[in-house]
This record gives sequence, C-alpha cells and structure tokens, in this order.
Amino acid sequence: MLLDHNSCYQALVTHDQRFDGVLFVGVTTTGVYCRPICPARTPRRDRCRFFANAAAAENAGFRPCLRCRPELAPGAAVVDSANRIASSAAERIEAGALNEAGIDELAAEFGVSSRQLRRVVKRELGVTPTELAQTQRLLLAKRLLTDSALPVIEVAFASGFSSVRQFNALFRERYGLSPTALRRSQSSQTRKEVLTVELGYRPPMAWPLLLKFLADRAIPGVESVEANRYSRAVRIGQSCGWIDVERAARENALRVKVSLSLARSLPPLLARVKNLLDLNAHPQLIEARLGEDERLREIVKRQSGMRLPGAFDGFEMAMRAVLGQQISVAAARTIAGRITDAFGEPIETPNPKLNRVSVRAARLAQAGAADLTRFGLTGKRAECLIALARTVAEGAVRLEPGVDVEATIERLKQVPGIGDWTAQYIAMRAMRWPDAFLHSDLGVRKALGETSSKRILEIAESWRPWRAYALMHLWNGLGQTPIKTGGEDGLSSSRISALAPDNSPRLLLPCGDVFAAGHRAIELEGPALEEEAEIAFKG
Ligand SMILES: [Zn+2]
Repeated sequence: MLLDHNSCYQALVTHDQRFDGVLFVGVTTTGVYCRPICPARTPRRDRCRFFANAAAAENAGFRPCLRCRPELAPGAAVVDSANRIASSAAERIEAGALNEAGIDELAAEFGVSSRQLRRVVKRELGVTPTELAQTQRLLLAKRLLTDSALPVIEVAFASGFSSVRQFNALFRERYGLSPTALRRSQSSQTRKEVLTVELGYRPPMAWPLLLKFLADRAIPGVESVEANRYSRAVRIGQSCGWIDVERAARENALRVKVSLSLARSLPPLLARVKNLLDLNAHPQLIEARLGEDERLREIVKRQSGMRLPGAFDGFEMAMRAVLGQQISVAAARTIAGRITDAFGEPIETPNPKLNRVSVRAARLAQAGAADLTRFGLTGKRAECLIALARTVAEGAVRLEPGVDVEATIERLKQVPGIGDWTAQYIAMRAMRWPDAFLHSDLGVRKALGETSSKRILEIAESWRPWRAYALMHLWNGLGQTPIKTGGEDGLSSSRISALAPDNSPRLLLPCGDVFAAGHRAIELEGPALEEEAEIAFKG
C-alpha cells in the first residue's frame, strides 16, 4: 500500500472502515498507535505518522491503543500487495510459521533464500520477518490477557513465545507494563473452560449467506451450523478440540470460542478461521470494482458483503470437491460423512453433533478403492480421491494460501479425475486465490448467456483480480431473480425461464456443489465436468 500522508489523514478524519487494518496511525505526542476507526479524538495532522502494519508502528516505538485495539484489526488481503511473497510470508508468520520453525524453512516454502525473504519482507512491510513475528506474538498475548482468563504462563506459550522470561521482557519493553499488570487492569475474569477471541472484519459482511454456504456443505460429525453459529471439530498438529464462531457484540467482529485444548495452536487456528470466513477481504473495494460492470451491478448490490468461502482444512475441502463431482451437494455431504465416520479419529466435544476430526490425507492414502466404493462412490471417484490423498500426503502439493497457485493447479490436474474446473475450484477455496475463475462453468455460462469460453474469459478480464468473487456473485445471483443488464450480452427473464424449464431456479455446477440462493437449495449437475473427467481418465 502506498498512500500519501494526506490520503491517510483523510481516512483517519472520516474513520474510513475500508482502511481498517490497511493503515495504522502513530500519534507522536502520546506514543500510541491506532486503527483509523479509533473513536478517540482525531489528532492533529502534524502529530500523525502512518504505518502499513502494526509491526512497523511498534518498531517505531509506538504502543497499541487500548481503545481501538489494533490487534483486532482485520488483516490485509494477499492481493493488496505488489509482492505476493512478502504478503504470503506475513500470513504464514501470523499463522505461527516462525514459532515452530525457522526463517530458513519459511524461505524454502517460497523457493527463495532466507536472505532474499528477509529483504523482500523488509522492503514491502518495513520490518524484518522476526520483528513481524514478535509483534504478532505480542498482539495475540495482549488480546488473550484482555479477553481470556488463560493464566499468564499459558498466554506466553499460546501466543507463540518459547519462554515466559522472553515474553515478560519483550512485553514490558514494548508496552511499558508487565503482562500481569495488564491482566489486573482488566475486569476480573473467572476461569473458563474456553477461550474467546474476537476477529475483526471490514464491513459489510453477509454472514447469513456465508453460513448457508457452509451449512449446505457441512460434513456430519465434523461441522455444524445452528442458530447463526458455525461449529467444528479441529485438529492442528497434535492438538484436538473444537471451535464455535458467531457474530460478536462488538461491531464488525466475529467471536470465536476455542476449547482450551487448542490454546497452544492459536496462531494457526485463527489463521484458518480467517481463511475459511474470508475475514481479510475488502468488500467495499471489491464491490466497487465489480459493480463497474453492468452485468454484475445489481447482484453485487443485492449480495453486498458476500465473502468468498475458503477452507479450514485444504484436504478436507478438496476431498469434498471431488466427492461432489456429478452428484448433488446433499449426496456429497452424506458420502463425506460416511468416509469421515470410517477414517476420521473420534473426538469428544460438548456439542453432540461434533464427534470426529476431519480425515487426514495420510490415512486415506492407505485406503483401497474397495474401502471407499462401499460408501457410494464410483470406482473412478474412489481412485481419484486416493490419488489426491497420496499427492497431498507425500507433500507434492500443499492446499493452503500462499502457495504457488499456477504450479499447484498444474500438479492437481495430474491426478486422474481432477480437471481444470476442480483444480480451479480448489485454488479458489483452499488456496484462497481471489482471481481463480471457472470459465467453463455451466452456471457462469447461463448467468452470462454466453457459450464461448473465450468470450467469457474476455468478459471476466475486467473483474481481475477478483474474478472468484464475481463467480460467487453469479452463482448465487442465478438462483434469485434474473440478472438485469440491459445490454445485449445480458439474459432476459424469458431466457432465464427457458434455461429453467420447470420454473424452479436451478443452478448447474459441474462439481455438484450446490450453491443455495435465497431460501431454496438448488440442484446442480455437471456435463462440463463429465467431459473433463473423461479426458482425464483417457489420459
Ligand atoms: Zn485508538
């Protein structure tokens, strides 16, 4: 982000939410740094210093504001930065990459040397990877001291410090008080069996729409959506437990309840929740851009705040994508539940609906096709799933944000039964690639009234780098009222009815992944994928 002082100050004066998490202001007279949305009185222009991230502000000697709480600001999306390596590395660091391993391992993930990684992070973010990691740990610790009753020693480890002494020293040095002093200054908290953490987002947020998407795909035993709350069983490394996510009382934040058993896996856990729920998105910027296209203007307005659902667990999401090929989303869900019941490890949670953790790729890689076909898969689909599990288990692909998207898509397509559609869909969700696009998708063809993939790609060119959001808008918008465009490329309502002869809005997607719109679930099918699958199997 390159903003001049005046634009930054303007964002501050207007408390512009679009810049929350994108810039931070350090006030030279108080030594405190804030989010642009801070309710405190706006400081004078000449007393402000602007920073692109919290670590840079802390490095310049500023302490986090206790009112607006910079640790609650939403993160920056990867596409914001000119340099993908720097921003992806920042995400990995926030997820705790430098807590478990060193800078060399992190650099290797991106195929660069540690010196190169240091240089590129410093250039893009103004701080070194180590400084970034320290600030992330401190901010998470501050959040836990404020919002949870976790003992101070546990706070140190949960936020990624390797020793309590180091935690105490750094905390005192940066924030000018000890962790216990900050804890005492907060209202008394009773010891709880759960941790509660808030995650901020930039408004608007179409939470019900996102929940509906997740509910339709929830794997029985692992996930559950009830009463505006998303819950799931979790395994991260050796820790197992559960989480609940719902809207927080605080504006523009979600409240995540975490079982204490997951306390030491908090950084990667919170990163996964953010990925799943797309909390780093800039909906206003995305919608302004997409709304420039007449074809999208109406649906984008109607579905304002729509998020691009990501993945909590890349392999779990990819497994679902494969299972959903050519069958309904409900059927795919049932089969996913049976497979999880057989291959997922049991877990005890207070929620009777959560009793299994997701199947691990390594476990499924050892299965034979016959072990899976009894759950209702075709033989080819079973083989595809096992081949995918092996590819993931061997480390040939990593299905997570920050990886090289093009290379991973190419590698996925080498798995028999995975074609371009499925690979792009996995990129869109598991790798959280906002520019992924399914140009051969039937739903997209119908929505745009275009049959030529080439023409569809041309139309989508102006939607970059947010083609995946446009796709979600099109899928979802299809099930509601017809898209009004007025242009000759658009669909008239009579053409929409012609496409849905039984008068029920039906959205046809190759992967069988039903995107429900409004109050009706839409049944999907996929001729496009059939071709894709055939080609793959022949090859
Ligand atoms: Zn503030």
